[in-house]
Amino acid sequence: MRRHATLVAVALLLVSVAACGSSDGGVDRPTPTTTTAVSTATAPETTSTTATASSSTTAATATTRPTPTTPAPTTTVPATGSGSLAGRTVVIDPGHNGGNFSHTAEINTMVDAGGFQKACNTTGTATDGGYRETMFNWAGAVQLASRLRAMGATVILTRDSDTGWGPCIDERGGIADEADADALVSIHADGAAAGEHGFHVIRPGPVPGYTDGIVEPSSQLATRTRDTLVAAGLTPATYVGGGGIVARTDLGTLNLARVPAVMLEAGNMRNAADAALLQSPAGQAAIAEALASAVAAQLASHASRNP
Ligand code: ZN
Repeated sequence: MRRHATLVAVALLLVSVAACGSSDGGVDRPTPTTTTAVSTATAPETTSTTATASSSTTAATATTRPTPTTPAPTTTVPATGSGSLAGRTVVIDPGHNGGNFSHTAEINTMVDAGGFQKACNTTGTATDGGYRETMFNWAGAVQLASRLRAMGATVILTRDSDTGWGPCIDERGGIADEADADALVSIHADGAAAGEHGFHVIRPGPVPGYTDGIVEPSSQLATRTRDTLVAAGLTPATYVGGGGIVARTDLGTLNLARVPAVMLEAGNMRNAADAALLQSPAGQAAIAEALASAVAAQLASHASRNP
């Protein structure tokens, strides 16, 4: 019996590591053989969630959630008043956290993800060589923050290191909401079948009561992000449809942002070429530069949310 339980635990861990938490919390999306089906707006784990919006909200409120070791947000640098993005606020969410691996109970705590319950967070994926997704997410976030601040933006990161755990997905989205940010950019990398490669940009699909006001501007930001990444030489994912853009309704980070939001899956860490790109300083810089260009273009076309 104990042996069986151990095997199950190991199997669950392998699944958790193999797929990215672009599902951002809870059970990651299915293994690569079924990822095509997941690229539709409704992800499978939502079908097993029978809670209504009202009951899940109650449940979320009742949840006693442990406090992350890296409470957000902490990294706020006021804009200097100059630059094209002066007066604008951007929230950058480096997906997962480096310490999530050793805080299984905490990251499995259920939270509201936009009218349904989902686990606080997941561990994220890794390359076959052991380079963790959280390392890429953090490096990309730091580089993007630097570029946006240089353009005058106020930047808030949802976590301030890659060594703690959390915050939960509802807090990640909530940080953008509370800041009334002009945009939220969540940075991830995926774990798909080794033969698949490329990036995809996830935008929030329609979730009544949650994403109503952000579907359209988020779609614009997603298109800009896809286009700047292609211009930088990156390839849209071979394993999802939509030309590198996928709408999803199961991601708490996006559902609760309340501001224009996108989540980047920058590449497939299980693919050798993508893994090399994602680990390289040049690759990280190119991705950060493309993201910064997309955000700058988006904000230039939309009036400030904080006039
Ligand atoms: Zn992820």
